[in-house]
Amino acid sequence: MNKKIVIIGSGASGISAALGFEKKGIVPTILDVGDTNKKTCNVSGNLYDYRKNNELFDLMIGENLEGLSNILNGTSLPPKLTSPMNNYIISDHKEHSPLKTSNFSAIQSFAIGGLAAAWGAGLYRYNESELQNMPLRSASLNPFYDALSKEIGISGQNDDLAPFFGNDDTLLPPVRLSGKAEYLYKKYSKKRDKFNKNGIFIGYPRIGVLTKNHKGRDKCNYSNFETWLSDIPWVYNPAQSLNRLIKEDKVIYRKGIYVESWNRKNGKIIINGKNISDNSPFKTTTDNLIIATGTLNSAKLILSSKKDTLTKLPILDNPLLQIPVFLPSFLGSPIDKSAFGMTNLNLIFKSPENGTTLQGSIIELTSPPRSVFFEKFPASSVMNLKLIKMISTSLLAMFLYYPSSKNDAGSIRLNKNNELEIVQKNLILDKQPVKKIVNALFGMGALTHPLIIEQSMQGYAIHYAGTIPMKSKTTSDYESSPDGELHGESGIYIVDGSSFSHISSKNLSFTIMANSMRIADKISDKVRRN
Ligand SMILES: Cc1cc2nc3c(=O)[nH]c(=O)nc-3n(C[C@H](O)[C@H](O)[C@H](O)COP(=O)(O)OP(=O)(O)OC[C@H]3O[C@@H](n4cnc5c(N)ncnc54)[C@H](O)[C@@H]3O)c2cc1C
Repeated sequence: MNKKIVIIGSGASGISAALGFEKKGIVPTILDVGDTNKKTCNVSGNLYDYRKNNELFDLMIGENLEGLSNILNGTSLPPKLTSPMNNYIISDHKEHSPLKTSNFSAIQSFAIGGLAAAWGAGLYRYNESELQNMPLRSASLNPFYDALSKEIGISGQNDDLAPFFGNDDTLLPPVRLSGKAEYLYKKYSKKRDKFNKNGIFIGYPRIGVLTKNHKGRDKCNYSNFETWLSDIPWVYNPAQSLNRLIKEDKVIYRKGIYVESWNRKNGKIIINGKNISDNSPFKTTTDNLIIATGTLNSAKLILSSKKDTLTKLPILDNPLLQIPVFLPSFLGSPIDKSAFGMTNLNLIFKSPENGTTLQGSIIELTSPPRSVFFEKFPASSVMNLKLIKMISTSLLAMFLYYPSSKNDAGSIRLNKNNELEIVQKNLILDKQPVKKIVNALFGMGALTHPLIIEQSMQGYAIHYAGTIPMKSKTTSDYESSPDGELHGESGIYIVDGSSFSHISSKNLSFTIMANSMRIADKISDKVRRN
């Protein structure tokens, strides 16, 4: 085992660190629970053609009724995580790390690739103003955004959203718009100046979805299976990079290991854990420990190592509104079988008055199950089914994200039973922007209404951050330096969302990844010098 550098976790942050070490010719060891207990279903062609000739029970419901888990268990998992094929991504999380939550929806992944095995792959660069509350400059992230973009293959366009997302020369062509998304985009483009004056901007998303074959992975075939499977080649999953690194002997990957804590002996960092297969103890030493276990698990690992059951750390997530967007002119139209069933467009609202910036992801619904709407309509079950069937071909959904900082943070602590406890207060969101967005959508021929807009429980955005804020000068045990080092813990680095003391309304993972790669680059230089 390469004892110089150990990364814990194979998710977006862990693999980005490994890619940083690859650039410097250093071979790290990755320790990971790394569940791969994936079910398979041999699908082919297009979802809508496939379903004509095949039984869908295995793909959509599953022998353990995973597909109905929200209805049966009263949970609110995103559709991708209720797919039986994707259940491995979160299946053992309660056994590995029990959670107690109040007013916060929390999920952890112990899978190979982590939560990104189920993500929407919206990959956005933070600009300078979004980093202003952190000792991190966009110029120091840019080379790593670029390098990751080349590894991942990000599609998009330098359009009206370039002032928010940045101009990016590495982009692949954008994903083809669905009929409804194209309609909306055309309506926006016709009156662009008026919308822009009111702070509304629409353009293509930046997504880790291939529109050209890239690094041995096939381009998107518009088959609508994206919700149902996690190993679709055109949607980036960190496991794809991990597999390449393993094949090229650029990492040593040890899966089946749950890391519980670290301590120190004779100047070495000792990592303590267990082998998942038989619960036998696991121990190893290292000079540099990179914590990439995801914000929630990192909090647990750090608090456990410090044997601290008293401290409450802050926890952030983007407050989220789910906005149904109804396009009456599509009522009664046939289903758009070859649409791309994930994010088609982004809407940015930038308040002309105070500069508040919110980001909306406009999502096509041809891939997710229609059952997600089942409880959203007010009628009887039978009526609701009819309604869903009638209007689903004329619906889009917009996820509208708000920024988050310590003022609206929840708290997370480790209790004496080794459970993470997360408590969140109710957040009242500024709804002024919503009115403006609703009006703007109306001007584009799309209807929605504040009464059918739902504020998700905090945590539902799954953009966890903020537990170990990055500070230019650290003073507490639960802060990290600009180079990711945990205060008072030489050689221990945090590279996941934990160190983000403030999150903008953009999905944060690409910035976590660039920051992780940047920290790995710094550590490589240090290791080389020594
Ligand atoms: C449905 C869904 C959609 C999403 N969409 C987007 C999106 O479009 N854009 C975006 O930016 N973000 C999105 N996210 C969020 C994004 O997936 C996460 O921010 C990101 O994956 C976090 O990566 P991570 O590596 O920090 O942590 P995780 O993904 O949580 O990975 C943690 C890794 O550490 C390992 N691990 C954990 N604890 C231990 C331990 N104690 N010992 C050993 N190994 C351990 C796990 O096995 C896993 O490999 C989405 C998430 C979901 C679920």
